[in-house]
Amino acid sequence: MSAVESFLSAQEEQEIVLAIRQAERNTSGEIRVHIEATTAMNHYQRALEVFHKLKMFNTKQQNAILIYVAVEDHKFVIYGDKGINEVVPENFWDTTKEVIQAYFKQGNFKQGLVEGVLKAGEELKAHFPWQTDDEDELSNEISKG
Ligand code: CA
Ligand code: CA
Repeated sequence: MSAVESFLSAQEEQEIVLAIRQAERNTSGEIRVHIEATTAMNHYQRALEVFHKLKMFNTKQQNAILIYVAVEDHKFVIYGDKGINEVVPENFWDTTKEVIQAYFKQGNFKQGLVEGVLKAGEELKAHFPWQTDDEDELSNEISKG
């Protein structure tokens, strides 16, 4: 089994998808998770590349965020679109990062992603509240590289 396949069970993946759905009930922002084994690129640059590959810039308010994980590299990046960056302080994702890091350090990757997704939803809610005409603009399924 590859590192990516053994990172999360099918059941755990479903729990993360449910967390994304739950988080997106509070905010118009769109949250996606991408998991891959490793990259030769700078992790931030790679997250940006994945963001574009998944066409995540394609939201009305440019308020999508990607949680990118490189399993073998023990790295993750939270990348938010410019609609978010224009209205939030620079350290906006620090609390979400801390939540994820704490669980990852214990080897609890599923819970780290579930809690991270929910935290990101809460943070986004303040700036991008859910609206009655909200659409699920981006898939909630986990993407794998
Ligand atoms: Ca939405
Ligand atoms: Ca979505």
